[in-house]
Amino acid sequence: MSSVPSGVAATEGVGGNRAGRQLQLADLRNDDHFPAFDDLSPNFYAGDPDASDDEIGGGPANWCFLAEILDAENFTRVRLVVRDKEGAKVVLAFYTEDRGNELKRSLLRPGNTVAVLRARSHQFLDSSVGVRQEKENAVKIITATLTELLRLSDSVRIYSKDAAGKVCHGCDEEKKPLLRCAKCAMFWYCGRDCQMTGWNEKGHKRDCKIIRDNDLRSFFLFNWTSSQAKPRFPLPAPTAG
Ligand SMILES: [Zn+2]
Ligand SMILES: [Zn+2]
Repeated sequence: MSSVPSGVAATEGVGGNRAGRQLQLADLRNDDHFPAFDDLSPNFYAGDPDASDDEIGGGPANWCFLAEILDAENFTRVRLVVRDKEGAKVVLAFYTEDRGNELKRSLLRPGNTVAVLRARSHQFLDSSVGVRQEKENAVKIITATLTELLRLSDSVRIYSKDAAGKVCHGCDEEKKPLLRCAKCAMFWYCGRDCQMTGWNEKGHKRDCKIIRDNDLRSFFLFNWTSSQAKPRFPLPAPTAG
């Protein structure tokens, strides 16, 4: 790659992807892999949360429930009131060994988004509905609103391509060579001017901060159509080849 303006760097491909290899990044608007609460399967197997999904009628290989935190309480266990992408308000209650105390308390606040791998719907004894979370390391709190995340997903899919057809996030042109943002390594720029445009005018200042979280980056890179039975955070980086 050519000279490197400050803040833009020529870096290796994310996750070891070779140039020319098309990377399929997660689309958080996809309802199969990122379903709203109404589309979650019921939790028939409370005692065995990793029971085969064939037993409950198939469905996508992997899925993750995304919802924004509206309220958080922690009396006998962490209990969150969350709102999903369709606006449904549900309860997410932690029945993990540490009753949700394994999560960083400062992250449990309104405006952050919770991601629950292979979540199932559950009806609680008080007849409220939600997700009864029993699996360890299947929950991640993302420091962004759900709206911010969905918007980031849209731009990641346009601008974070590794293969041919990648465009500059600043000017939307397909020029060569393009250089990666040195901070997140997910967005491409022709140079300093376009980087400034992307940073100041096209929201990358905020997006870059969100996506610098390695766990979230692997979230976008994870192959959600894979049949990996027990995905856990941190999600595995894709293998090259
Ligand atoms: Zn440009
Ligand atoms: Zn960046």
